[in-house]
Amino acid sequence: MAHQYPDKRPSEVLSEILREIPVIQWEFLENEAEDRWLPYTLLASQDLEHAYSCFKSKCFISFRQHRYEVNLRQLTQRNWNTGTVRRIRRREAVDLPALSAASQEMLDLLEFNIQSRKRLKTENDALKVSNDTLQTSHADLTRQLDKERWERDLGLQVERVMCDAEKRGLQQQLSRQILSQLPDWSTLCTDYMQRALKRYDPKFTALRDYFLQSMASHRRSSQSGQWCPRPDVEVTDIVEVVNCNKQRAYETARGGEVLHRNSHSCCAIPGVTAFKCTVEDGCRDLNEYLLFHGCPRHRVDDIARRGIDPQRGGETTGSLFGRGAYFAQNASKSDLYTTCHECHGNANYTDCRHAEGERCIFAVRVMLGETWLAKTQGLSQTIRAPERSNGDPFDSIAAVTKKNGGIVDHMEFVIFDRQLSLVRYLFYYRHKTACQCHNCQHRRTA
Ligand SMILES: [Zn+2]
Ligand SMILES: [Zn+2]
Ligand SMILES: [Zn+2]
Ligand SMILES: [Zn+2]
Repeated sequence: MAHQYPDKRPSEVLSEILREIPVIQWEFLENEAEDRWLPYTLLASQDLEHAYSCFKSKCFISFRQHRYEVNLRQLTQRNWNTGTVRRIRRREAVDLPALSAASQEMLDLLEFNIQSRKRLKTENDALKVSNDTLQTSHADLTRQLDKERWERDLGLQVERVMCDAEKRGLQQQLSRQILSQLPDWSTLCTDYMQRALKRYDPKFTALRDYFLQSMASHRRSSQSGQWCPRPDVEVTDIVEVVNCNKQRAYETARGGEVLHRNSHSCCAIPGVTAFKCTVEDGCRDLNEYLLFHGCPRHRVDDIARRGIDPQRGGETTGSLFGRGAYFAQNASKSDLYTTCHECHGNANYTDCRHAEGERCIFAVRVMLGETWLAKTQGLSQTIRAPERSNGDPFDSIAAVTKKNGGIVDHMEFVIFDRQLSLVRYLFYYRHKTACQCHNCQHRRTA
């Protein structure tokens, strides 16, 4: 786009052109006394030039309604009618002063145009430079702003992530405290009571979340290859059980026989997802967990008061690992052993056909102590865990999952001493209408 403008004036350019391309002009002497020469018309001039360049000695032209005979050797013309003879001449250049005023005006205009365009170009170049400068500084500013915005966003994100982590950490800490908590019975004036938790109580939320998160997917039936969706349930009530005598017995076992059997902290149990109660400072780790236990609905209050009796274990629920009290780490597993509020008196869990009836599952604090990892079925009538090398029995049995070489889909735990478990909470809940879990499918179709 960069135009190059000549430094020469247009008049100079024009005269150069005229010098290179001769302008031929034929003229006749109109007045000899005044030496006044006049040009022929363009047409006559062209005819004369043609004859001249063909080296003719004579030619005829028409001019001003007269016919002339032209002698190109003598350079004369003779009017055929009047016989008047005049001299003629051939001129090869036109003097600049002879240019018409109009031409001069045009040249002036051209000159003016060129000067204007030069000035405009200069101004335009200057504008371009300042525009470039502006664009550069604009780009710099944009980059700077982007950088600052990015840094600010990153800072905010980091802060938010840290806040979230902190909040989650605090919530987890609170949940751990809640799930680990035992009532201070020394301040109570009653031996036994049930108290329903308010829904806005953080305790309710923590416990409900724990209950719901433990729901797992199960096979359609024990030998089936089909896995059903996790139970979709709604918690209707959570009731805390305060049972001073049972708690005293539990705490006594913890500080006595179980402690004596385990001279060091107990081994960690592989594959456990259940909540492990916080080990208090200065105490030995005795593998205390919050586990689930399902019961027929009509027995709930009795069991809450008396505790879970290992002697009655396996009476109704089978006894793969001996006659003890069975606990699950998935409420969905305990759900199988429940009946509902619509069931009659002595109904067994296999009898319940009410998919959406209200059920109850216990959350029980269980002291598993040193656990025997069972990978095969045990003796169904055995009333204690296998012995360790020193002759003492293990405190509990943990059924290992198939994934880890065992025989169950979901871990379960068995204890044989009544005082190693303490009923802490009752979860009242219903399966939702849309629930497609293994138990709902069974209860609806059986
Ligand atoms: Zn050990
Ligand atoms: Zn039971
Ligand atoms: Zn029922
Ligand atoms: Zn269900």
